[in-house]
Amino acid sequence: RTVAELDDALTHCRACPRLVEWREEAARVKRASFADWDYWARPVTGFGPADARVLVVGLAPAAHGGNRTGRMFTGDRSGDVLVRALHDVGLASQATSVTRDDGLELLGVRFTAPVHCAPPANKPTPQERDTCRPWLERELRLMRPTLGSVVVLGAFGWQALLPALAAAGWSVPRPRPVFGHGVRVDLAPAASAPAALRALPVFGCYHVSQQNTFTGRLTPAMLRGVLAEAAHAAGL
Ligand code: SF4
Repeated sequence: RTVAELDDALTHCRACPRLVEWREEAARVKRASFADWDYWARPVTGFGPADARVLVVGLAPAAHGGNRTGRMFTGDRSGDVLVRALHDVGLASQATSVTRDDGLELLGVRFTAPVHCAPPANKPTPQERDTCRPWLERELRLMRPTLGSVVVLGAFGWQALLPALAAAGWSVPRPRPVFGHGVRVDLAPAASAPAALRALPVFGCYHVSQQNTFTGRLTPAMLRGVLAEAAHAAGL
């Protein structure tokens, strides 16, 4: 099937009871500043062209960010930081990401996450991560023809992504490479992979959460640096 069909199916998933409850609870209680919003309150799909060259992998939607707007990295501080940096390096049509109909286009880039529903305290359980992994595996398989690099935001995404990449046809070394900001790992195609599959550079980057951006652990320059490197590696 196509990425669009996959995304459509994903929005109906209710496989994680705790997350279904949390995403719907956030829509009922709301945040005062969003009182007039009709929250999305469903799984948030990947966003960006299906034939993207660069995949940016986050963690999970925020209860009052993506879970409200229905688009990944949209309507919260993490999205502000990420989309501004993408725009600065020529990978987004505009510098802001506010609502799902604000006209933002990602240029050769797609966002996704290992967990597609908002978790309490932004912390999915290992079981929820594993339950959601088949969606990521399918997305990776569908993107294989054009995928040229991956940027992983944070250790949770890194740990979730590597098994999914292994399932999608790349050879992941044992022991698994360790996450770090600025780490680059080049994964060769597995012996069983289709002949056309190319090596895949995977880049680690601190997550764009406020914990990192407010404290200066992740600066805009550091983020731009990883994004530009990943774009270059993917031929953008
Ligand atoms: Fe389904 Fe993933 Fe949401 Fe769990 S986190 S309910 S597997 S979409």
